[in-house]
Amino acid sequence: MRNMFGKKSRIISILLCAFMLTWTLFGCGAEKDSDAEDELSDEMSAFEVAADQREMASENKADYSVLDAGRGNPNWINTQARYAFSRFMEYALGECEGAMPEDGMGGEAVQKGIGERFTAAMDPNNETDAFLIDAVDYCVERLGMDRDELVKELVDGIIGDYYPSPSRCLTNTEVILNEYLQSTLYKGVDLADETDVFPTEGGSAAMTYIFDSLTHNRLLNPGDRIAIGTPIFTPYLEIPSVKDYDLVTVDVANTEENGWDYTKEEMDKLKDPSIKAFFLVNPSNPASHALSEKTLKYLKQVVKENPDLIILTDDVYGTFVEDFQTVYSVLPYNTILVYSYSKLYGATGWRVGMIAMNKNNVCDRLLRGLSDEDKEYLKDEYDIVTDEPEKFPFIERVVADSRSIGLYHTSGLSTPSQVFMDFLALSHLIYGEEDPYIQRANKVVNERYETLMKALGLEPDESVSNAKYYVIVDIDDLAKENYGKEFADWLHEEKPEKEFLDDLAERKGVVLMYGPGFKAPEGTVRISMANLEKDDYKELARRMFELLDEYEKEMK
Ligand SMILES: *Cc1c(COP(=O)(O)O)cnc(C)c1O
Repeated sequence: MRNMFGKKSRIISILLCAFMLTWTLFGCGAEKDSDAEDELSDEMSAFEVAADQREMASENKADYSVLDAGRGNPNWINTQARYAFSRFMEYALGECEGAMPEDGMGGEAVQKGIGERFTAAMDPNNETDAFLIDAVDYCVERLGMDRDELVKELVDGIIGDYYPSPSRCLTNTEVILNEYLQSTLYKGVDLADETDVFPTEGGSAAMTYIFDSLTHNRLLNPGDRIAIGTPIFTPYLEIPSVKDYDLVTVDVANTEENGWDYTKEEMDKLKDPSIKAFFLVNPSNPASHALSEKTLKYLKQVVKENPDLIILTDDVYGTFVEDFQTVYSVLPYNTILVYSYSKLYGATGWRVGMIAMNKNNVCDRLLRGLSDEDKEYLKDEYDIVTDEPEKFPFIERVVADSRSIGLYHTSGLSTPSQVFMDFLALSHLIYGEEDPYIQRANKVVNERYETLMKALGLEPDESVSNAKYYVIVDIDDLAKENYGKEFADWLHEEKPEKEFLDDLAERKGVVLMYGPGFKAPEGTVRISMANLEKDDYKELARRMFELLDEYEKEMK
């Protein structure tokens, strides 16, 4: 007991120290110097604006049904992995009941022979059972796993009777998730064996964990400069360690003129060694375009001149672009990859995403190069969870930090969630490149996009880099094209896009997102293809024109 209290008070004092350190750093930090931050505090975020408009739209004057194209939450789901989850839970419960047949109680599944018992329990004529058989066979035959060990991991995982162990990721699960990332995002570059994966509560948790650990480990320090690929999903700029850490942000902008890709001039900003990190969403949100091969190549050049650059890429939309290639596959040493199942599989409520990092990475090298004082501080921080704090890899620090270090032994994503991630990954892997689910998801998004563009009278952008998940529409251009320059000028003066969006909600029941809230150009709005049926996009365009017609009368 003494020992335990000793440890507890140690943990409490560490928490207190961390709190005080945080307070000191944030309370007395350097002067604010970040454009992104200033703009965000002046400008309402796109999400705040949309929340108001949702309310207005629900009581719109025309009494139309609400068309909310603001949200990125998809209205489709993957059924196969969910059926598999439900079926496998039932099977796993049978295993537990076999181990301790008491009313309302079960025991721990027995590993010996579990692979055979699993196969015997599945009916190959049932679609879901057949998928589970294929999934397990794939892992055994293609990934070289031991059948008993795999089924036992999945059974314990779905039952959830043990803390995640290893904390970072279950053993076979890590292999499966690596295979998934390789197949969907690396475009043939073989990195599965040299990548560590940490499943997290969605991409959002992944990002906050990474920023917290970068700052906590003094790889990013108050006043450091970080580059941000804009336009960008705004909540990321609101992460406290970005916002309150007085990091100076430098925009690396992509523009419509350049096909929503970065120009060389913009990327050249990254050559400056005072820029410590580059943070991007690829394919982007809101612009919804992937970096081209040319850009990836140039980025590689740029990093040669700033070899300590930490790149953080959020590839949640990667599967919506054919032949997508992640920055991680081009710059594995410098890049931390974040992926989430939320969008493709309609799984936002599950909170399932992950961090992937090469075993050989820039963060570990930078840790080794810290000052003696910083090293001493970090040694103290982590020595309660490891015997060799100096050698504790960055990704393990991310795991430990996610539970304030002290609770490292209970960290890690819930094991049923990890099993669900396995089933989603395997629902892709057993088909490989011809994955019918990914094809269907792309077709759904594509049809909505084509319908909208046609109804708005706009030329669809058929470039391969276009994910089409969102589209940025320039309202001023739309007005000029359809009503002439005089009207467009009047509109620009009298109805800035925020007012246009308010009217669209209040009078027509349509909700769109406010472009400048994402650092997209003035006069633009973001329309999401995720959440309405195909024909709704026709109606949405009709209502936009109906409002513009009314404006035209008003002008006259
Ligand atoms: C929707 C979205 C995500 C997904 O976040 P989760 O926390 O996994 O739901 C991540 N990044 C971007 C840019 C997104 O638009």
